[in-house]
Amino acid sequence: MQHDIWKFVGLMLIAAVFGYTVGHVLLSMLVASIGIILWQVYWLNLLYLWAENPKTHPMPEVSGLLHSLYRSIIRTNAKNSKRKRQLSAYLTQFRKAVSALPDAIILVDDHGKIEWANKNANTVLGIRWPEDSNVRFGDLIRYPEVDQLLEKANSKKKQAGLGVVVNSTSNNEQTISFKCIRYTNTLRMVIARDVSRLVKVNQMQSDFVANVSHELKTPLTVLKGYVEILRDNPDLPLKFAKPLAQMNLQSVRMELIVGDLLYLARLEDSANISPHEPVVITNLVNTIVDAVGPLVEEKRHSLELDIDHSLILSGSPTELHSAFSNLITNAINYTPDNGLIKVRWQGEQRNGKDCAVFSVTDNGYGIATQHLERLTQRFYRVDNDRSREGGGTGLGLAIVKHVLQRHSAELEIESQEEEGSVFSCVFPIGKMVNAQLSSSSIN
Ligand code: ADP
Repeated sequence: MQHDIWKFVGLMLIAAVFGYTVGHVLLSMLVASIGIILWQVYWLNLLYLWAENPKTHPMPEVSGLLHSLYRSIIRTNAKNSKRKRQLSAYLTQFRKAVSALPDAIILVDDHGKIEWANKNANTVLGIRWPEDSNVRFGDLIRYPEVDQLLEKANSKKKQAGLGVVVNSTSNNEQTISFKCIRYTNTLRMVIARDVSRLVKVNQMQSDFVANVSHELKTPLTVLKGYVEILRDNPDLPLKFAKPLAQMNLQSVRMELIVGDLLYLARLEDSANISPHEPVVITNLVNTIVDAVGPLVEEKRHSLELDIDHSLILSGSPTELHSAFSNLITNAINYTPDNGLIKVRWQGEQRNGKDCAVFSVTDNGYGIATQHLERLTQRFYRVDNDRSREGGGTGLGLAIVKHVLQRHSAELEIESQEEEGSVFSCVFPIGKMVNAQLSSSSIN
């Protein structure tokens, strides 16, 4: 820089001396300045041509500030090309890794067109890349559920784990699970997996449990019948009274378990759909309260009801009865004597959405946090002895979960050890009969 300034000053001095000798100092200095500017523009132009295309234009031999500029451009270019090579290596590796995944991965732009797909997209969905590049995803994969999934993923709201499972229309035996994630402003990633085997294994497992339960039903009834006859026999020696009472108790328990297993199998069977009709929750709760009355009295509990009579739910009365009575019975059983149980059915707002909530609150034993996630699994019990004492089968909450799934509702559980629990069934407002009327009753 300094070198350039001295050069400029020197040239101006020479121009001034020359101007002085010819009698035009200012004119001579002006001409010299224009000359210097034109000279710099010439070299800048060479620099521009070289920077634009270094392969066809040689690097100009310059000194001073322009030389520093050249060197800086060369250094930046070298750094950029190294970074470019690294990025392209990463990209190749990433694409290889995604291609090796067993799932079909398809990138869809915000117009619904395919941007990229891995090899398995062809195996699972018949989408070929690059042949199907820019083809609309919806034109190749025609499932309304998947269209809705893509729509949802398009919304700006962050939504994790959006997914649907569909039965293939072209192959009856095939079930495909779709997940969609929006990962940039314009791109969505569709992940599809063939889950046919998993579905088949689950079906076989359910069928097996249902068949075993069904086969056990008749021998159990016979056994229980004979035990009852023997117990009623006045000639029965006293020493058999206790074992027979035990046999009776256990056969009743087994009958309850078999009954619950068969009921669960029916709930799991998607082909077995019970018709939905308007259900007056007030009546349903009153029936349950009547049935559990003796138990509530025995444990000297107080039962409080807070029911919105105007909220009528569209659903299956028998299924809802079974779910709600399981929750109320659990609250009674898992609360020490003199407890307080509140049953509530009210409109609410949860996560910004209108909904109707059936909740059962108790001030009983409560549940430690680590158990909450597994409570709805079959036969999962926090305390085996307590469950058996209360006559529990370990299947009650699994039944509740399935019933709620069949009513597009969700089970939420809050609990604290030694404090009590709240089990809430959250129904979308759309499940209410005359949803508009119902939503006006939500405060
Ligand atoms: P069970 O027939 O054993 O009651 P459930 O499936 O209904 O089976 O419940 C599973 C387990 O969850 C129970 O064994 C119990 O440990 C726990 N549980 C359910 N409801 C409550 C509650 N209101 N308070 C405390 N624990 C509960």
